[in-house]
Amino acid sequence: MNKIEHIGIAVKDLEKSNEIFAALFGKSHYKMEEVESEGVKTSFFQVGSNKVELLEGTNENSPISKFIEKKGEGVHHIAFSVDDILSEVARLKKEGFIVLNEIPKKGADNKLVVFLHPKSTNGVLIELCQEIA
Ligand code: ZN
Repeated sequence: MNKIEHIGIAVKDLEKSNEIFAALFGKSHYKMEEVESEGVKTSFFQVGSNKVELLEGTNENSPISKFIEKKGEGVHHIAFSVDDILSEVARLKKEGFIVLNEIPKKGADNKLVVFLHPKSTNGVLIELCQEIA
């Protein structure tokens, strides 16, 4: 596993939060993207060598909408970049972590992503991501 690639933050209103985080970081987001399969709209900020991803659910069944309903807005996941997502998944399964989707899916920002269940990681949703070549 390599560096933290981004931190995902669940928000209710992406437009409003874009303004808040632009003020916080002193610069605007560099892209917005909708991932229809996940029911989310995202925006990305580059902060030094890391990124911050804001996520808004686009319908009430979206994992983000459900998260906000249960826990309110806030940090939703931490994403780590990996070189070989399939071998990382195999390694982590062997270590006993619960993998939410064993087959990597296409996430935002041109990445293949796999999530680990927070039950097996002290309550933190972990995303593995590998840049699509
Ligand atoms: Zn993410």
